[in-house]
Amino acid sequence: MHPAKILAELGIHPAKALGQNFLVEFDSILPWIPQLKPDDTVLEIGPGLGGVTNFVKDHVKKIILVEKDFRLAEYLKKQFPDIDVLREDILNIKKEFITNHQINVVIGNLPFYITTPILEKCFVQWGISLGIFGVQKEFAERLLASHGNSLAIFFSQLANIQKVSSIPANAFYPKPKVDASWIVMEKRKPAVDIKRWELLLRGSFWGKRKSLKNAFLKNPHWSSQKFTESWKQKILTYPPPLDLNRRADSLSVEEFLILYNWLNDNTNK
Ligand code: SAM
Repeated sequence: MHPAKILAELGIHPAKALGQNFLVEFDSILPWIPQLKPDDTVLEIGPGLGGVTNFVKDHVKKIILVEKDFRLAEYLKKQFPDIDVLREDILNIKKEFITNHQINVVIGNLPFYITTPILEKCFVQWGISLGIFGVQKEFAERLLASHGNSLAIFFSQLANIQKVSSIPANAFYPKPKVDASWIVMEKRKPAVDIKRWELLLRGSFWGKRKSLKNAFLKNPHWSSQKFTESWKQKILTYPPPLDLNRRADSLSVEEFLILYNWLNDNTNK
């Protein structure tokens, strides 16, 4: 049944504030279905009316649904009596829940207003192996860029990321203003300490149009840690491995890694 009809029957008006755009056309899902394995335990974020759930459930060992909207959660419980449905905000789900249920894959046509916090949850806190996410097209482009924004540089150390298909705005009800994309994120072993990596990027991208040197010496994020104090000392004392008059948005991941390794090299050079 078309989502518009189900929603009308349930007396639900899609809530913009919850990013409620429901898939009506599912071709975009087909390219990533083969990534699922029969022994996977999957958590689905924001299942809505269960459109994606229907395609996934028979390919995996177990699927658990986490839906914030009470009315949709009730509908899902009736629709899928054999599946665990949690009426919960995904951002409240703790690592213990993921570990206890042995969840290794997270899937979701994501509520767009919390895309970044969800990716952080998955790959920084929960440490899941595979994420398959529907995200706004522009977000996917930012995440896949080789340089120019801290999002792409940050996640480059946490996951190998690929766009697998496009989701035209027409594939949703109600139709959003922009197209979306399915991306697949496969966990990778970082070459850095993630806390330090995050602080390096926060410092680098602080303040619009600032040179790296200015940003490093003036940003507020580097004020409280012992190691960031030693970074500042190094910047003031030793010749850097790349020109610190450049701006953060011009550096590639490889260049940030060079900077990271230099700052954290304690042999003082
Ligand atoms: N998966 C469905 C589909 O593809 O048709 C719906 C996707 S819709 C873009 C996003 C869904 O996430 C909605 O069902 C919405 O109610 C739910 N949602 C929004 N915020 C949430 C949150 N914080 N935690 C869990 N679910 C949330």
